[in-house]
Amino acid sequence: MNSRSKKPETIAVGAGRMSAEHFGTVNTPVYRTSTILHPTLASLRNEEAARYQYGCLGTPTTESFENAVAEIEGAARTVSVPTGLNAITTAILTVVAAGDHILMVDSVYGPTRRFCNGALKRMGVETTYYDPLIGAGIEALFKPNTKLVFCESPGSLTFEVQDIPAIAEVAHKHGAAVLMDNTWATPVYFNALKHGVDLSIQAATKYIGGHSDVMLGTVSANETYAKRLETFVHDMGLYASGDDCFLALRGLRTLPVRLARHWGNGLKLARWLMERPEVSRILHPAIETDPGNKIWRRDFTGACGLFGVVLKPISEAKLTAFMNGLKHFGMGYSWGGFESLIIPANYVRTVKTFQAEGPVLRIHAGLEDTGDLIADLEAGFDRMEAA
Ligand SMILES: *Cc1c(COP(=O)(O)O)cnc(C)c1O
Repeated sequence: MNSRSKKPETIAVGAGRMSAEHFGTVNTPVYRTSTILHPTLASLRNEEAARYQYGCLGTPTTESFENAVAEIEGAARTVSVPTGLNAITTAILTVVAAGDHILMVDSVYGPTRRFCNGALKRMGVETTYYDPLIGAGIEALFKPNTKLVFCESPGSLTFEVQDIPAIAEVAHKHGAAVLMDNTWATPVYFNALKHGVDLSIQAATKYIGGHSDVMLGTVSANETYAKRLETFVHDMGLYASGDDCFLALRGLRTLPVRLARHWGNGLKLARWLMERPEVSRILHPAIETDPGNKIWRRDFTGACGLFGVVLKPISEAKLTAFMNGLKHFGMGYSWGGFESLIIPANYVRTVKTFQAEGPVLRIHAGLEDTGDLIADLEAGFDRMEAA
């Protein structure tokens, strides 16, 4: 069967399996190796193609994981790298050279901005930030040396939805690559490559790993960029361990069922929060009144469990009373695991300020019972009132 006719749920279960080569085991075992012994001098010299050459150039474990992600992404090639942030920097550096210019969405994940303003600038690459809602208007920002447009949709912490097909059309007209951090929707809910993205990025640390116990990133390329991506990864000596790829592939098997639950739980929490007097508004593209809902409905097939809450103005003491004492919402960075999390959102915007009435919280709805989660938030609001 052509993989394109399969649904993500089916691909997630079967993709990347190598049972016949591993005594029938369903899962590819963990290979830990540096040296791979070659049977002949010709094989050692790579004159005779050997399937595996050297540890960091790939093992059956990394190959299983990468092939599985490539199938879900509809990509020509997926590479696995040590972190999500490394997937972002690797994808950017695959495309640019000194003297180039890139367009970066203003609502990007903070460390991506830090990379552009620091290391990338030092390498002679100039960054211009653009409004996430710019759409086809991005054309006005193109320079003769603009080599890539970087998207992240919905935006980090503020959840603006970008018009990716409109941006991709303009970028391709100018010969620029389109890169997207697609960690929020995952390839299950947004098929980035089909919407014009050339290099699709996942912080596999989040939903693909799914269990808060692995750090990993993936970059998935279409035919045009596959070879360049692979060459750059090998030139840099980048490698994700077999143990981490094994865990991430195990996570991938259940990604669609977990996501459906995260989506449902997130929406229930968001709708409950919307009715609270302490809440000014909710930042969640799947809510009908959200400014990004129209494009979300057009392009996405689902939502994850991550969304924002803008509170009405309150004192620091009241915010502290709310946050301290939550039982089911942990305070910590990252998201995409099975557990609920909450953090105050600290965002930097340089193109257009994000107008928030009060503190902005980012909630990750985990897989717990929503009644228990709501009771926990309600107790938090009681503490807020009493403070
Ligand atoms: C967490 C995150 C990353 C970085 O992933 P790490 O594995 O923590 O480096 C990148 N993009 C987004 C949107 C993220 O939330």
